[in-house]
Amino acid sequence: MTRRALVIGGSLGGLLAAHLLRRSGWHAVVFERENDLTGRGVGLGTHPQLIAVLRRAGIDFDATMGMTVAKVVCLDRVGNIVIEQPTARTMSAWSRLYRALRSALPVQEYRLGKKLRRIEQDRDSVTAIFDDGSREHGDLLVGADGIRSAVRQQYLPRAQPIYAGYVAWRAALDEARVPHEAHRQIFELYTFCLPEGEQLLGYPVPSEDGDTTRGRRRYNIVWYRPVDVVALDAMCTDASGRLYSGGIAPALIRSEVTAAVKADAETLLAPQLAEIFRRSDPFFQPIFDLESPALAFGRVALTGDAAFVVRPHVGAGATKAAIDAAVLADSLDRAGADVAGGLSRFESMQLPFGRDMVALSRQQGSYLSAQLKPLAQRRGGELRRDIEALLHAHGSRSDQIGEIVAARGLEAYF
Ligand SMILES: Cc1cc2nc3c(=O)[nH]c(=O)nc-3n(C[C@H](O)[C@H](O)[C@H](O)COP(=O)(O)OP(=O)(O)OC[C@H]3O[C@@H](n4cnc5c(N)ncnc54)[C@H](O)[C@@H]3O)c2cc1C
Repeated sequence: MTRRALVIGGSLGGLLAAHLLRRSGWHAVVFERENDLTGRGVGLGTHPQLIAVLRRAGIDFDATMGMTVAKVVCLDRVGNIVIEQPTARTMSAWSRLYRALRSALPVQEYRLGKKLRRIEQDRDSVTAIFDDGSREHGDLLVGADGIRSAVRQQYLPRAQPIYAGYVAWRAALDEARVPHEAHRQIFELYTFCLPEGEQLLGYPVPSEDGDTTRGRRRYNIVWYRPVDVVALDAMCTDASGRLYSGGIAPALIRSEVTAAVKADAETLLAPQLAEIFRRSDPFFQPIFDLESPALAFGRVALTGDAAFVVRPHVGAGATKAAIDAAVLADSLDRAGADVAGGLSRFESMQLPFGRDMVALSRQQGSYLSAQLKPLAQRRGGELRRDIEALLHAHGSRSDQIGEIVAARGLEAYF
């Protein structure tokens, strides 16, 4: 008899897990709390393991899915290139991958508006109970419900995201709206700008509907800025005085907050980037990371951001979710009827892998986190940046992830 997998969370992690489980013979159904996820998301880094898992899920990562950037540069405050290096990064867009993964799943197997409330399980089955009172039964439940996971909250209430001490301002501008000079100088490049204590990256990505043709792409900016917890609370408070402590929805960010960051852009950033930023509708996300001490609970597993949150410097949120999905499907395959045994194997592989990925991302973000410490307490790389090394680390990110994959014995999956 076909076994049934309940996948909680319908973003990239849940979709990848559902596809791979289906390919292993499971009847996988995805339950997503939102009514619509389209129109969200901006640029997203890719690595070879993500592309390999997409292929395994039946999705070819073709030229419409990403933009390969050949050169990384750093601009100074007046807009001159101070360093340039070759690079080989492929940048995609969350919405492009989401559309490809979702449209490849039968409509009836992707259920929107289903918010998980809690889980019950016994020796033979697992039951998901949703906010609307409905119940779904299965042989396996995959918690792919992101950083504030309800699944993790039930089994590991003490594992909470940790604020890194800075936010990422994110902005995307249609290529047609990028000023001509800025377009000529930087559109095709991966561009860093490094105001004291801060870090900005800009690069081209496919358009929202996946167009990578010249003139129809988008320019994506990620600007990391240290913010202490008191100031963060003020930024995360909407015009009615309500505080959204884990992060505020873009539409609720007060206009004064956005006006202030646009004013700062004029004084701190290279003019090409300031101009693009000024023309966009920026929003911010507080940066968190998270480590779960366990990933398997009987017939229930945590994957993707529900399990470990890697700070975005590594550009590997989707890649990590893909690697989790591949190891999960294979571990269950090997275990046959023993679902809990398969999940234990998955846990033994993915706990050390997740820890290594979080450690790499913390190391890459240490200069930014240290900005909230008194100067006298900062050490080495917390005090000053080696720009050449920063650009080089960026260019060799896929190698660093490859090394972790190899060290954790996961190479055979890709
Ligand atoms: C709308 C959206 C846009 C994003 N855009 C980007 C981007 O542009 N760039 C980037 O690098 N990363 C982006 N991310 C994050 C990226 O998807 C993840 O870091 C990574 O791919 C791992 O994904 P995940 O599926 O594990 O977690 P997430 O992507 O966080 O997805 C978790 C999903 O679970 C759902 N969910 C949460 N609680 C429940 C519940 N109780 N019941 C049912 N469903 C629930 C959420 O609505 C969400 O869709 C985005 C995530 C989302 C949801």
